[in-house]
Amino acid sequence: MIDLHTHSHFSDGTFSPSELIEKSENLFLKAIAITDHDTTGGLAEGLKAAENKNVRFIPGIELSVTHKPGELHILGLGLKNWENAPILQEINKKRKVRNTKIIELMNVQGLNIRYDDLKLLTKGTIGRPHFASWLVSNGHANSMNDAFTKYLTWGKPFYMPRETISLESAIDFIHYCGAYAVVAHPLNIPVNFNALLEKLDNWIASGIDGIEAVHSGTKRNMTKRLLKYGKEKGCMITGGSDFHGGNKPFVKLGKTAKLGIISDEFLPEELLR
Ligand code: AMP
Ligand code: FE
Ligand code: FE
Ligand code: ZN
Repeated sequence: MIDLHTHSHFSDGTFSPSELIEKSENLFLKAIAITDHDTTGGLAEGLKAAENKNVRFIPGIELSVTHKPGELHILGLGLKNWENAPILQEINKKRKVRNTKIIELMNVQGLNIRYDDLKLLTKGTIGRPHFASWLVSNGHANSMNDAFTKYLTWGKPFYMPRETISLESAIDFIHYCGAYAVVAHPLNIPVNFNALLEKLDNWIASGIDGIEAVHSGTKRNMTKRLLKYGKEKGCMITGGSDFHGGNKPFVKLGKTAKLGIISDEFLPEELLR
């Protein structure tokens, strides 16, 4: 069992990198990647925690890139150097601009939220999940999901778009860090399957190395279709749960949609080098 897509409290997960490593060891995972949104802040801790452990730690990241329709997320897997990353500062500046607008919207509605309230909820990237969590704690929503559907998704009162980077600059950054660029949860793009395959063709032509065919949000029959496509193209095929701890309680570490095990066959050999 492996898991190449997880979030720590350096973005919108609820566990520390060390706790994630400990959980992986307890579950006898062969490998775990920590892939926080737009930050490498948790990787040094993850690396240290995995020393002398039976679980292989794969440093990663998940970047949101500009795309319509839906949200396109790119995983960087197997980062080798991640210290000097001006692009991440740029992304997080843009996040801050958007977050400040959301705070203004909420305060206009009389909710009385401050930036510092959000800072307490993460050691790194601040995003909509932290607003969701604030809304739950302050009695405005019953769950994270409820907060998103009532307030934070497109068309809802506290939705604000955020400027993202281009696919090309995400790929460049990931390659610069010595890592592989993998399309996260491709099925999240709301187009029919044939249109998705065309998009994947284009993304591969732009430098994408692989696809995340196995994911907790991807149904088995769709995984099969992605696997067939990936094998035909000879691209890297990965599997990850997208574990967020208590922020997405229905997602389990090392598990697929129906809580099957994410098999070692979705750990590409290149990531072990
Ligand atoms: P942001 O990048 O700040 O706009 O926030 C988007 C992130 O919110 C996504 O990457 C997801 O991890 C998270 N998210 C989206 N919908 C939900 C949900 N219903 N419950 C919990 N987290 C969510
Ligand atoms: Fe997330
Ligand atoms: Fe994602
Ligand atoms: Zn994710």
